[in-house]
Amino acid sequence: MGQEPVCSFCGKSKPQVLQLIAGPDAFICNECVQLCVQIVAVENPDWLEQHRQFLATLPSKSRPDSAPA
Ligand SMILES: [Zn+2]
Repeated sequence: MGQEPVCSFCGKSKPQVLQLIAGPDAFICNECVQLCVQIVAVENPDWLEQHRQFLATLPSKSRPDSAPA
């Protein structure tokens, strides 16, 4: 196998993470996105509220705790 894309932040490759998002010259995995959200949220409480509202607009599947299977 040739060049496998890896997260530019934590270095994990695609099979190790849920999703790898490509940028112009870098990749970021879902785990690092979550970490970034945490960091920004801690330092910017106002942004956290905006982020919550944004997330609420996204379509979501049924939650694990409400779906038995
Ligand atoms: Zn990562």
